[in-house]
Amino acid sequence: MMQMISRAAPSAMASFPRSRTRRGLCVWPGMGQICLRKNLLYGFMQFFSIPFKTLRGVSRSLGVSNLCSVANMSYSLQIELVSTSLSFTVLAHVPCLKDNYAYLLHDVDTGTVGVVDPSEAVPVIDALSKKNRNLTYILNTHHHYDHTGGNMELKERYGAKVIGSGVDSDRIPGIDIALNDGDKWMFAGHQVLVIGTPGHTKGHISFYFPGSGAIFTGDTLFSLSCGKLFEGTPEQMHSSLGKIISLPDDTSIYCGHEYTLSNSKFALSIEPGNEALQSYAAQVAHMHNKGLPTIPTTLKKEKLCNPFLRTSSKGIRRSLSIPATTSDAEALGSIREAKDNF
Ligand SMILES: [Zn+2]
Repeated sequence: MMQMISRAAPSAMASFPRSRTRRGLCVWPGMGQICLRKNLLYGFMQFFSIPFKTLRGVSRSLGVSNLCSVANMSYSLQIELVSTSLSFTVLAHVPCLKDNYAYLLHDVDTGTVGVVDPSEAVPVIDALSKKNRNLTYILNTHHHYDHTGGNMELKERYGAKVIGSGVDSDRIPGIDIALNDGDKWMFAGHQVLVIGTPGHTKGHISFYFPGSGAIFTGDTLFSLSCGKLFEGTPEQMHSSLGKIISLPDDTSIYCGHEYTLSNSKFALSIEPGNEALQSYAAQVAHMHNKGLPTIPTTLKKEKLCNPFLRTSSKGIRRSLSIPATTSDAEALGSIREAKDNF
């Protein structure tokens, strides 16, 4: 039986139907600590809970309206979905810095915990402390400081092993296990497929959990956008995104940043007639107003709405004067350039 447990807000308790019995990621939406270092404020501003749509099937039973009411509560709140039929339970969502997300993974059977892309240590330590959990692994999608900044402090504190790209092993702080495109790695019995997704950086990798239908895409694929091409070409990014869109449509996408609202404005500017996008953009604006994260998104939604996955769209090409003869990779480059100047 799936149960939503709200420790601070009993009124938010609810139960959900039993899901399929395979091992899969489920839900531990998180404790939101938003750290405004820019303003020299380091505050725990906002604690909210989010529906983490990692558990296919079950996630469909979590309505946004349900969760909006939870999020409106002004006090600290944790929600955890627990299923006796699933042993790989938790994904927590830890807002860090200004708009970064780190994600916590928890295997209930073994107590193994991993964090994806900890930009800073303190919010992760706090999230783990609240659950009285240790940290076994740190998974980095790429070397940028806003994805690895917490590595050394977390490693020192918990003795966690750092997993990152073999291509960037000299740039990932504290790396212990170097993985490359096509490698398979096991997280407490859960298979993880490493997908090389260069373009944003040359060593960028994404972590795909096929058993859970979830992928951590770092700064390669965002909701309604892709990462900036700091170290790669449009061809590389197009190829990387092509690997991701070959996954099942209901794959949940966990990316490194909450950029969706501003991305939606650009996407609408170049494809205003896209009805799926109009609808999603309205939903995103609503979630933003409620202080809810828009992540995870799904591959299906991104295929319908994300301009970087829609390089052959006639509407987009018309908006940006991209000729019909231009390749999809080149079109991606033009869309990226337009977004950089938006
Ligand atoms: Zn980055």
